[in-house]
Amino acid sequence: MKLFDPAMKFYKGNTHAHSTNSDGRVSPEESMRQYREAGYDFLALTDHWHVGEERNYNGLLVIPGVEYDFTFETQALHIVCLYPDAKCAAGIRRGMTHPEIIRHVNSVGGVVIAAHPAWSLNTPDFLSTLDGVDIAEVYNTVSGEPFNGPRANSEGILDVTAANGRLYNLVAADDAHFYHGEQCVSYIMVQAEALTVPAVLDALRKGRFYATQGPEFRNIEICGDEIIIETSPVSRITVCSNRYWVNDRCVQGEGLTRRVYKVQPGERFVRIRLTDAAGRCAWSNPIAIER
Ligand SMILES: [Zn+2]
Ligand SMILES: [Zn+2]
Repeated sequence: MKLFDPAMKFYKGNTHAHSTNSDGRVSPEESMRQYREAGYDFLALTDHWHVGEERNYNGLLVIPGVEYDFTFETQALHIVCLYPDAKCAAGIRRGMTHPEIIRHVNSVGGVVIAAHPAWSLNTPDFLSTLDGVDIAEVYNTVSGEPFNGPRANSEGILDVTAANGRLYNLVAADDAHFYHGEQCVSYIMVQAEALTVPAVLDALRKGRFYATQGPEFRNIEICGDEIIIETSPVSRITVCSNRYWVNDRCVQGEGLTRRVYKVQPGERFVRIRLTDAAGRCAWSNPIAIER
């Protein structure tokens, strides 16, 4: 079984960015201009409690989006919500609980993404009980240094969550606020039927995407107990899972483009991480191992 269709196009997009409609430092137009110039196919402007309209900015598809934030005693919850239409957000207001809002977004055909779990200090228990959310940000550029502290990367907490039975699909996003170098860094490559809002949301729901900062997955194929991984030239191909120790978890070399991984006894999920010579990463969605 191939996770990606070799005949289908990938679209490049950032699902999380801010503008002067909330706490971002540039106008929506300037944000769109920068992402368009960097070769993105789509962008979601996800201002806090402010839903952006669908737009076509010189060929850049702008998906209606918003970020709702909630504060609890020991952690925060920020959810990025992508809507089929900005009108679908009608009725949402501050003071509603996060389960109410998540139920609403799903009921109107939207997609909910758990934003920056590491930055938010989310616990695996909390993430495990978050109903109606199937995607989390494995990497959030602005949550890293020098823009913020060192909590851009949520791999550790999401691996603990996955090892305890709850698999999230993984996106990478910039969460651009300052446009001082955190924009146009971390993104997803999506195999959508077309560059339209419904097609991109459908592909997100079906998990037909990977997260990256540059390295490309060319093929991920499951053949019995082997996983065939083909990539653009990278320096490391690492396979993570619920097992804390496996031999040769990380294969390192110059210009690697292929690895065949044999699933180990006891592995209930595996995911693949690539690192290129410049230190940029890519992350596959976790693959549930069925026996
Ligand atoms: Zn946030
Ligand atoms: Zn944000």
